[in-house]
Amino acid sequence: MADKDNPDTTKHKRDDTTQPMVLPGIHRYQFFTNLKDRGWTRNLDRVALFGIVGALLATVVKPVLRGNAATIYCYECRACYATQDRCPVGIAFQAELAVAGRVGDYDRFIRNGGLKCIRCGNCQSYCVQYLPLPEMFGTMQQDTREAMAKGIIPRSSLDKGLAEGLIGKEFIDDVVKALSRS
Ligand code: SF4
Ligand code: SF4
Repeated sequence: MADKDNPDTTKHKRDDTTQPMVLPGIHRYQFFTNLKDRGWTRNLDRVALFGIVGALLATVVKPVLRGNAATIYCYECRACYATQDRCPVGIAFQAELAVAGRVGDYDRFIRNGGLKCIRCGNCQSYCVQYLPLPEMFGTMQQDTREAMAKGIIPRSSLDKGLAEGLIGKEFIDDVVKALSRS
């Protein structure tokens, strides 16, 4: 708005829209505060907010719907790696299994030995939050078993799991059946 004591100030106000575009929706020398001009939409801030809220909800809602809500509380500190040789089947990266369970990443779960976990609970005392790791891993094992039955796990993941001895005996039949179908 013009200064009423000095109406000429409007003459010097820079018009951002006359500046050349450097990126879609962003003009060179654009005032940072002119948010309405900084994107393809005047509601860019609202779109961004919905995006952030949506991503957060997906992170929380997905594991809850799959019955593995405890995985949300793992903050990936990796203190559980201290289990080391107290894991009877040699799983080294328990946090990887927790995260794989949270996001439903079957390949990551198999790759890190999730299907050979015998749910003994030896790693649980190393979790700084004392999360129910055996239950979390067991739930993801059942999800993985169902995914194998539906044929949605890539053959390469199963082949690699078998070749590297990452499949526990209770899941061998499921893996063999899944491979014979693919
Ligand atoms: S619960 Fe699974 S990952 Fe943990 S120590 Fe036992 S076998 Fe290893
Ligand atoms: S110690 Fe517990 S919270 Fe930390 S990474 Fe391992 S499972 Fe997650």
